[in-house]
Amino acid sequence: MRVKKTILALFAIAALLFSSFSLFGCEAFGYRKLERTEHRFFDTVCTLVGYEKSEKEFAAVADKVFTMLEEYHKLYDIRNAYKDINNLYEINKVVNGSHRKLTVDERIIDLILFSKEAYALSGGATNVAMGSVLSLWSKAREEYEELGSCNLPSEAALKAAALHTDIEAVEVDRENSTVYISDPGITLDVGATAKGYATEMIARELENMGISGYMLNFGGNVRVVGSKPSGDDWSVGIEDPRADSKDPFLRIIETSSAAVVTSGSYHRYLVYDGKKYHHIIDPDTLYPAQYYISVSVISDNSGMADALSTALFTMPIGEALDLINSIDGAEAMLLDINGELHFSQGFDSLTKK
Ligand code: AMP
Ligand code: MG
Repeated sequence: MRVKKTILALFAIAALLFSSFSLFGCEAFGYRKLERTEHRFFDTVCTLVGYEKSEKEFAAVADKVFTMLEEYHKLYDIRNAYKDINNLYEINKVVNGSHRKLTVDERIIDLILFSKEAYALSGGATNVAMGSVLSLWSKAREEYEELGSCNLPSEAALKAAALHTDIEAVEVDRENSTVYISDPGITLDVGATAKGYATEMIARELENMGISGYMLNFGGNVRVVGSKPSGDDWSVGIEDPRADSKDPFLRIIETSSAAVVTSGSYHRYLVYDGKKYHHIIDPDTLYPAQYYISVSVISDNSGMADALSTALFTMPIGEALDLINSIDGAEAMLLDINGELHFSQGFDSLTKK
């Protein structure tokens, strides 16, 4: 039920993103625009769009992309175990009162170390070690989606969970490829970073293989890999989430290589006592962050864009702009709860509209 609702909502964005793109130009070179969508990964809609001369050529690339995506999905899954894989679910599991030190795939080591960098860069705003707190919210959300009503997590439960969110307790040993969480109360929730990180790794793999003219859109984590065969940039529309907006897009980004990642309050939420509680949690208040409807980050690195969009979402506007303006190669657009748009210093140079 939960998955279905999310998928439908995200499918709507995916459709918006792609429907209005102009295709003229590439067909004249004998290329066709082709796409494949999967609903099995990262609890969201994942679409690959690319220009190839034949369906067979496209299918070969799409098979590679979705095989990689499936591997990342299994490794980074916090809800399910898979045979013969020490994934995040296994790392989070408490056995006889403690976590186990596990030998894991290096893609897990890389994600956790990347997420620790995101924690440091964001001053703790994006904290993947906040699983204890986040799971209280996600359980309530699931109940709401299942039954149409739920209780909020209690203040006491949130505060007790918040005692177990120290990312330093997540011990990563790259040399021996092991992970161990020294506090049994801590669990990892990589919802803020994993999709963007996996998207980036897959995009780079395509680049290494010399593949170009593709766009990945994994649950709103968009990453472009090379211009279209006509030489034109891709146009990536950033959705206007307001119900009364006339135009479906707030801005359109023109790019041949960038990532565009949006964190929003409008897809995953519960309603309690007539009030919406969305899924991005302010680590200071332990409640949904109060400042924005959506935050989009454009960067050449989709992992960074994902981590930053979540971080900025939890910060008041002054702090958010200071952070994004201090980072080279990343720009942001923030739609605040009053419907006002805010931009980082270099944002305008990226847009068509
Ligand atoms: P995103 O859509 O990338 O902004 O990520 C939101 C997801 O990240 C949520 O569904 C949670 O799983 C997780 N999350 C929410 N708030 C935080 C936070 N402050 N730090 C780290 N992860 C978070
Ligand atoms: Mg994120």
